[in-house]
Amino acid sequence: MSWVLGLTGGIGSGKTAASDYLANKGICVVDADVVAREVVEPGQPAWQAIKEHFGADALLDDQTLNRAWLRTKVFAEPEQRRWLESQTHPRIRDSIIQQLQNATSAYAVLVSPLLFESGQSLLTQRTLLIDVPVTTQIDRATQRDQNQAEQIQRIIDAQMPRDEKRQRADDIADNSGTLAALHQQLDALHEQYLQLASHN
Ligand code: ATP
Repeated sequence: MSWVLGLTGGIGSGKTAASDYLANKGICVVDADVVAREVVEPGQPAWQAIKEHFGADALLDDQTLNRAWLRTKVFAEPEQRRWLESQTHPRIRDSIIQQLQNATSAYAVLVSPLLFESGQSLLTQRTLLIDVPVTTQIDRATQRDQNQAEQIQRIIDAQMPRDEKRQRADDIADNSGTLAALHQQLDALHEQYLQLASHN
């Protein structure tokens, strides 16, 4: 397995901006959110299990998951949430490990908004937090998705508080400035990671 950097940050902090920049340098990037969607694509084992367990209500006409229905269901019934997570979490983890193992670059990056909360940081050698003030998170996330500020605030409230993430992360990149300023910090960190990975 390659040397793995875990890259995290709250909603709208700039994880994608940062991981795209590292991907452009030839670094393999595995995105936990993308993997979470892949494991429940129609025909996948987790999709099959969900279909058998919840029946047709859990699917839309095109056979993809009816996420709104599932959200309401597991919100109302905690044991159903546990069941759903028992089907998805191990498969997400296995797929992440598989994709990290297949990485051929000098090091690999695992991007996850819930890197610390989910235990996915255990799959990494080092962690990098993309850090911005909450007001910036809300500004950028609302501009990007036309989401309501209250909706973004609710998601922020459900994620690990910024201070705790700052304490846990090995490295912090401040993304409160321009993208160029972020890139400059990433250039320096990338050099460090190449060094660390080469001694692994
Ligand atoms: P999510 O967790 O919601 O997927 P994310 O952490 O991946 O978010 P990005 O999508 O990279 O965050 O960034 C959020 C928005 O802010 C995007 O529209 C992005 O283009 C913009 N953005 C990121 N960094 C900067 C910056 N330094 N200056 C201006 N805009 C930025």
